[in-house]
Amino acid sequence: MTIDTRAIPENESLVIEGNVVDDIWELSESDIVKSAGPLKFKVAASIVDENLLVRGDFLAPFTSQCPHCLDTFKFSVNLTEHSLLLPIEGNSTIDLTNSIREDILLALPSFPNCEEGEENNRKCPASGKFNTEGDFEEIEIKEAKKSLLKDWEELNKLNLD
Ligand SMILES: [Zn+2]
Repeated sequence: MTIDTRAIPENESLVIEGNVVDDIWELSESDIVKSAGPLKFKVAASIVDENLLVRGDFLAPFTSQCPHCLDTFKFSVNLTEHSLLLPIEGNSTIDLTNSIREDILLALPSFPNCEEGEENNRKCPASGKFNTEGDFEEIEIKEAKKSLLKDWEELNKLNLD
């Protein structure tokens, strides 16, 4: 995503709308979040004190896998009225790719589940199956019994001697 600063009229802003079709995200194969389409943007670009100011809306679709039910679901990161300020430093074209990648990736939810996806009113089919206190208690009891049995075994051995 590059902007040609020579196309921006003096003391005015240039409205730019478009899609970034290239996969700019640099996500790795092991990331559960995957890009699911082009980054859409509608911005106004202007020059402010030797800087390029780009302000507007960005929308990027992704898919992720729910950690509970393991379903893949779609969601979008939507930055509205978002500003990017980049020094021009004598360049005629400014590449915004790194800045927008950083800001969108920072806005990604850290452990999204399927209820946060685009499907309205979704209830995760696996919700309620995790972190029930009963499960933890059961494990503790089993271990306590085991160590009790071990103690009795030791005692029995002593009695035999
Ligand atoms: Zn789920």
